[in-house]
Formats: sequence, structure tokens, C-alpha cells
Amino acid sequence: MKKILITGGAGFIGSHVVRRFVNQYPQYEIVNLDKLTYAGNLANLTDVENKPNYRFVKADIVDAEVIDNLFQTEQFDAVIHLAAESHVDRSITDPTAFVMTNVIGTVNLLNAARQHWKGSYDQKRFYHVSTDEVYGALGEEGMFTETTAYDPHSPYSASKASSDHFVRAYHDTYGMDCVISNCSNNYGSHHFPEKLIPLAINNIKNNKPVPVYGKGENVRDWLWVEDHARAIDVIFHQAKTGDTYNIGGHNEWKNIDLIQLLCRIMDEKLAREAGTSAKLITYVTDRAGHDLRYAIDSTKLQNELNWVPSLQFEEGLAKTVDWYLQNEDWLNNVTSGNYQSYYEQQYSTK
Ligand code: NAD
Repeated sequence: MKKILITGGAGFIGSHVVRRFVNQYPQYEIVNLDKLTYAGNLANLTDVENKPNYRFVKADIVDAEVIDNLFQTEQFDAVIHLAAESHVDRSITDPTAFVMTNVIGTVNLLNAARQHWKGSYDQKRFYHVSTDEVYGALGEEGMFTETTAYDPHSPYSASKASSDHFVRAYHDTYGMDCVISNCSNNYGSHHFPEKLIPLAINNIKNNKPVPVYGKGENVRDWLWVEDHARAIDVIFHQAKTGDTYNIGGHNEWKNIDLIQLLCRIMDEKLAREAGTSAKLITYVTDRAGHDLRYAIDSTKLQNELNWVPSLQFEEGLAKTVDWYLQNEDWLNNVTSGNYQSYYEQQYSTK
């Protein structure tokens, strides 16, 4: 039986990856390690928590000793590393937290793997889940490929770029089997409502202003989170050692167009008169250093590993809205407490 450590499994994408691996691979033992920060929520995993091949460990990847001891006792065969501070706005307020978790935390995991996997690097795999934001910003044209030079702009993307470099360095220097994927923006269920789509759904539902940065001109590529989890599965099992794959939906949207689409879906789902939700759109001061456009070319993944996104965006968005409307308890739970004061601080409208 393979024992796989998945870090950050209580977060948005991590919970989908844990669910997929627990359900698809009963022959694997899945250990979910998470610090349970404001973004980590074990309620994301109630459907798998009692499965015999699943276990949760509460730990902080910044604590090198704890991580080292865990590798000593558990004898993992592979790591799929998703634990991170992930919100760009928070990285602008507190960059150091991002350096600690995203850089030091990743290096701690790499060091533990390097130490405890010695002599069997060819049988162990370290997979780092990263972002397309490491490539910087695009103008109106072009796409990021796997060979695009790194040019991060926010403290978040700088910390993820740094951790990518460390992962590659451990492959090149020590011969460890490391793999990286860089993915575009994800959307779907269990997404903490500080990010654009779940925040907008929650606010529209509660008749609150829907903040849109600047004029809403920024362009992002959007991928359904379960398609990302499937891509991670394929890459984890099939990528060559040292390889990198871009993952994306070939699905670019200006923020304002996306929010308008969401407003139309919400009007329909909530049986409101057409145009009601769009009245809630409120433009707020743009994010400092806001990258204009990201677009990702995932041709390599499609050609080499036969992965393509499964869901059309409109369909995925409607499905996502349904999930949030049907899971009010989840939403109320995560929108209470700390999240509220953070929300007030970040989104005071102009
Ligand atoms: P998230 O913020 O929802 O989840 C992060 C998880 O990591 C949380 O459960 C949190 O408790 C945990 N965590 C944070 N600090 C930790 C620490 N010090 N020790 C242990 N656990 C800790 O993030 P997400 O959106 O699910 O992103 C997961 C990964 O995917 C991140 O590495 C992110 O950079 C990457 N990524 C995200 C997107 C996206 O659109 N959300 C796109 C591409 C890549």
C-alpha cells in the first residue's frame, strides 16, 4: 500500500484532491496534514473522514521538527504539497506569513523528504502544486507556457515562485523525484468566500454590495476545481521526474463580465427580476500591483497526458452557485468570526 502525504487537504483545492484520492485509490493510505488556518476547514471532508484509507494530522509545516518526526514515523511514499497561504490581498498586508508557510514550510517538507527518503529517491515522489501567477502578467496577447520566465509581482506569487525554485533545486541538486504544476484560477464548491466567485455569490445572496476591483478589466483563466484535482491525479501518476505542467481551462474572462454572468445566474436561481443582482456591483479601489491578464497554455498536459477540462464554464458556475445555495450552514460557519473583521478591513467601498 502506498502512503501519500497531502498537505493543505482541509483547504479549497486540497479537499478536492483528498476526496479524489481517497475515493479513487482505496489501495492508498491518504494522510491529510493541515494547520487549519482560517482557510482550512475539516467540514470540507465530512464525506471521507470515516473512510479506512484516510487520516488527518493537525500540524504546521513551518515547524521543521514536527515535520521531520512525522516523516520518521510515517514512512511516506509520496507528498502532494498544497498547504499555503493563498490569498493575494492578505499577502499584501502581511508578506512574512507567506514567506514562512510558502517558502520555509516547503523547504521543511523538502528537507524531511531528502533526509528520510535517502537511498530510494527513485521510488518516492514530491509533487508541488503551484500557480500561474509565478509567470507575472500578460498584455492583451500571448499565453504562459512551461518555459515562460518567472516574473512574480505580488508577495504571494513571489513566495510561490520561490518555493517552485526550491523544489526544482532539490531535484537538480539531490536527484529527488520532484514534479510541479502551475494552474490558473480555480472555482467550485468549498471555496473560502474571500475569493472573487464565492464572495460574489455570498454577497448577492445577502443583498450586499459586490466589490469589483478597479473597473473589472483584469482577465483571468478559470478552471473547475475538480478538473484541477483530476489533472493533479494524472500528473502525479504519469509525469516524468523533474517535469512541469501548466494546467488551465482555456477559459479567459474579464472580472466584470464574469460577475455580470454570475449576477444573471443568481437572478435566475433566486427567482429575482432580471438585473436585480447586477445593481449590487460596486467598484472599489484597485489592488496594488494588480496583474492585468493571466492566460495559461496547457497544451503540453493535453498532448502528453491526455487531460482536458471536462466542464463548460457556464455549467460549472451554475453548479457552483447551486452548491453554495444548498450549503448555507457551511457558508454561515466560515463567514462568522475572524472572516468578518477581515472582510470589513479589506472591502470598505470607495
Ligand atoms: P486554501 O487557502 O483554500 O487552502 C490552504 C490550506 O493550507 C488550508 O487548509 C490551510 O489551513 C493550510 N495551511 C496554511 N498554512 C499552513 C501551514 N503553515 N501548515 C499546514 N497547513 C497550512 O488554498 P487553495 O486555494 O486550496 O490552494 C491550494 C494550493 O493550490 C496552494 O498552494 C495554492 O498556491 C495553489 N493554487 C491555488 C489556486 C486557486 O485558484 N485557488 C490556483 C493555482 C494554484
